Amino acid sequence: MPDVYAHIVFADIVAGRLGLNLDKSLLYFGSQGPDIIGFMFPSLSGQMHDGDALLLEKLAGDEKLFPVYIGYHTHFSLDNRLHPIIKSHSPTLKTHLLIESCLDQIIVQKYWKKELCLLKMDDYIPVTIPDYISTTLDTIINAEFSFKLPEQFWKSALENYFRIYKEALEGKSDVVISYSEYPQKTLEDLLGLNDFRKLTDAFGNAVEEETLSLSSCIKLKKPSGLKNTPMPLDLSHR
Ligand SMILES: [Zn+2]
Ligand SMILES: [Zn+2]
Repeated sequence: MPDVYAHIVFADIVAGRLGLNLDKSLLYFGSQGPDIIGFMFPSLSGQMHDGDALLLEKLAGDEKLFPVYIGYHTHFSLDNRLHPIIKSHSPTLKTHLLIESCLDQIIVQKYWKKELCLLKMDDYIPVTIPDYISTTLDTIINAEFSFKLPEQFWKSALENYFRIYKEALEGKSDVVISYSEYPQKTLEDLLGLNDFRKLTDAFGNAVEEETLSLSSCIKLKKPSGLKNTPMPLDLSHR
């Protein structure tokens, strides 16, 4: 994963470009993809990342999950485009996570003109999700990945997620996530100037590519009754 805010900012920009008027908290929840699961069930999260196409197909099948589907779609797209560069510079998990935290800080500065350490995660990611969403996700995960999530899983996974990033900001993370006082300098040192540019450019390019890719996905999902009318990109009726 690129980290929490890279995924939120990415989903936000892409949904905005497409003129999608979505429930933001569900979009941002979706934008984290399986990473929310990853701290508790890493191998399930790995399987879900590997099975991204299948998972997206299942999520796309339920209209009520539309914002979550868009979020997951952007999640995998950003992972797939940025992770190869990040991994090539990550001899250890600690380095890997530091690259991702610095990138998060830089993206928030660049696209939102804000400081990550001043943001509150619960302004973006919901502390709880509607029962219908959690039940549907449980069912899909059970059917496609043969994994039965425990009762009330999403509530505890989200609590855990918030705790981990709160501790990271306070500099006492037990999963070695840490932020840098000078994220750009740290990231340039870790990657070298060339790959620093390659990584930050990859984010911008991913926005363009994902906007195109999603706009054709949404057209494919066009309800049959609308066959002869041009597809409106504003799907606020959902
Ligand atoms: Zn990663
Ligand atoms: Zn991921």
